[in-house]
Amino acid sequence: MLNLYYHPLYTGGIDPEARFPRDRYTLLAQRLAGVNGIQMHTPRLATREEITTVHDADYVDRFLNGELSDKEARKIGLRPWRPEIVPRTLRIMGGSLQALDDVLSHGGLAGNMAGGTHHAFYDYGSGYCIFNDIAVCAHHALQTPKVKRILILDLDVHQGDGTAAMLQSWDSCYTVSLHGGNNFPFKKQQSDLDVELPCDATDTEYLSALDELLATLNFNDYDLLLYQAGVDPLITDRLGRLAVTREGLNQRNLRVFEKAHLACLPTVIFMGGGYAEPIADTVDAFQDLFTLAAQFQAQR
Ligand SMILES: [Zn+2]
Repeated sequence: MLNLYYHPLYTGGIDPEARFPRDRYTLLAQRLAGVNGIQMHTPRLATREEITTVHDADYVDRFLNGELSDKEARKIGLRPWRPEIVPRTLRIMGGSLQALDDVLSHGGLAGNMAGGTHHAFYDYGSGYCIFNDIAVCAHHALQTPKVKRILILDLDVHQGDGTAAMLQSWDSCYTVSLHGGNNFPFKKQQSDLDVELPCDATDTEYLSALDELLATLNFNDYDLLLYQAGVDPLITDRLGRLAVTREGLNQRNLRVFEKAHLACLPTVIFMGGGYAEPIADTVDAFQDLFTLAAQFQAQR
């Protein structure tokens, strides 16, 4: 069974007036409710202490107390903020940590139906990301005896800049990002491996870049895969600037899951970006992602 974490606050914690497709979470939950092999769970609230392991305590506290400056909040987006943004953020972090605990205990795959907040830095947020759940999960996993080396594969169309910066000095984490070169964030950070795609890259270009990248990685070298599986490379995505089809994205996920499966590599799936118009295209692509993950989980 594929365990997925979802809470109504993933949508409800964002104001309807915000320029963010907040309904993607509820729509996806409705779609996945009937899918065989998927079990949805309510995530717990992450604690302040779990977040301050990798984030600046002052920044964390000011967010939790509703004291971020207007400038700091503007850099994050998702505005106007409602008080529920705080429990939303803590549920999302909790969902990522619980998916991590699942795969550390049982192997295989588990996922959060949100998160992958890769634009959050040590002491500030940006691009819809408040705290970096990938960095928090990496730190948490390294506290367990089983995990010495972590592969972080970020295939969201935007560079995983916050993750790259936060984990830059961690020898135990190998950060990989495949992203649009001419897209947010315009000031890139340095991952251990960055591959940039030109605007309007098609399935052929996208998948050959991915194959080349994957060929350089030996999944057997790692104890854990943190997969940021954003679907914003999709051709109809408003923020993606690429021309990848739904089938192209499915092929992408298939390649990743196959390699992880062959290496018996425990894998956490973080949802990441997706801003297509119509929103159904984003929901379709995420449905494909988690349905495919459930198929791999069933093969174990
Ligand atoms: Zn993105």
